[in-house]
Amino acid sequence: MKPRDRLRIAMQKSGRLTEPALDLLNRCGLTFRQSRDKLFLFGEGEPVDLLLVRDDDIPGLIAQGVCDLGIVGRNVLSEYSFTDGREAGPLAEWRSLGFGRCRLSIAVPQEMNYEQPQQLAGLRIATSYPGLLRDWLRNQGVDAGVVTLAGSVEIAPRLGTADLICDLVQSGGTLVANQLREADVLLESEAVLAGPRTLPTDERGDMIELLLKRLDGVMQVRE
Ligand code: ATP
Ligand code: ZN
Repeated sequence: MKPRDRLRIAMQKSGRLTEPALDLLNRCGLTFRQSRDKLFLFGEGEPVDLLLVRDDDIPGLIAQGVCDLGIVGRNVLSEYSFTDGREAGPLAEWRSLGFGRCRLSIAVPQEMNYEQPQQLAGLRIATSYPGLLRDWLRNQGVDAGVVTLAGSVEIAPRLGTADLICDLVQSGGTLVANQLREADVLLESEAVLAGPRTLPTDERGDMIELLLKRLDGVMQVRE
């Protein structure tokens, strides 16, 4: 791939992380030419551009070197580490960003009396996070079925395609609406700045270091 002289950061095109990510980058002194329906937002002052994509694609784009950094949920980044045939080595979480907080949790039918993971043996669990769920089940020594769904995981128990679910929870409102309740937490998540384990040694590496420094300043003010 042709070396780039501008830093490229991937972020969610449209979703929960879009506004807070742009807001944070603005606070770091970065401004962009607004054309949000397009693939890129071009930096006006600094040599930093944004690539606007689906959040699920961000770890792969970093691993392939299509972009240098990404702003993505820890849930998506962690799940990627379990993906078969990853393009490159593991990615690093460079900073946690304090927004997009949620939990990846086990949720069970309201009437189920959940006390410990071992009760899940032999049951079918619907999820969009099969890697994280299988890893957790393995660590707990539980043999359960994993039903992978791309979306609308919370309706699987009502449809009878699974007994319970493993999904993202924020307020719990979606669970209640589907007669489910949060029973166990696998992962505490928030948006993170993700990148390769080792930073590029060219100008882009310098730019990343500068960005990290500004980010730390902004995060300190917010605390
Ligand atoms: P895309 O079109 O980019 O694939 P998406 O539907 O997967 O969008 P969103 O629902 O916008 O993504 O969620 C993006 C991220 O926001 C999640 O991966 C997660 O890290 C975080 N998040 C915070 N709270 C929640 C929640 N209640 N439900 C889902 N995601 C949440
Ligand atoms: Zn997504």
